[in-house]
Amino acid sequence: MTGLFSKKPTVCAVCGKQTKHAHKPKREWGISGRLCGDCHVDKTKAYYDSMTQQACVTCGQVRHIHDLWEPHWKWNMEGLLCKSCFDKKGQDFENARTRCALCGTKMGFIRYNPKPKWKVTGQLCKECWDSQKRQNG
Ligand SMILES: [Zn+2]
Ligand SMILES: [Zn+2]
Ligand SMILES: [Zn+2]
Repeated sequence: MTGLFSKKPTVCAVCGKQTKHAHKPKREWGISGRLCGDCHVDKTKAYYDSMTQQACVTCGQVRHIHDLWEPHWKWNMEGLLCKSCFDKKGQDFENARTRCALCGTKMGFIRYNPKPKWKVTGQLCKECWDSQKRQNG
């Protein structure tokens, strides 16, 4: 019976309760020490959630990964989007591509690229390009 006194009950690293059935935390959880059964279940669930749920990069709403969309590569962004942000982003992108960056007029085939020093992102209609040119040279 020599092992009797050396085997002290373990204190759970999360709730501080003594437990006989200590569980080893996963390394990813960043917990040192052992966990009681309850805390281990909680942490396992939280960890699982964190693997299957993610926040939309635009609105920050946490969704299941199956309800999130990957942005189009053309949008040049990282992370995942919820459906409504995904749709909105697509719309914005389409608008940015077809509308004048300054006045918002829908442009036809002819668009004008702003000069770098004008610090305008997107393309311009003829009127806006002309007025930029007049103002900024
Ligand atoms: Zn605990
Ligand atoms: Zn969103
Ligand atoms: Zn314009």
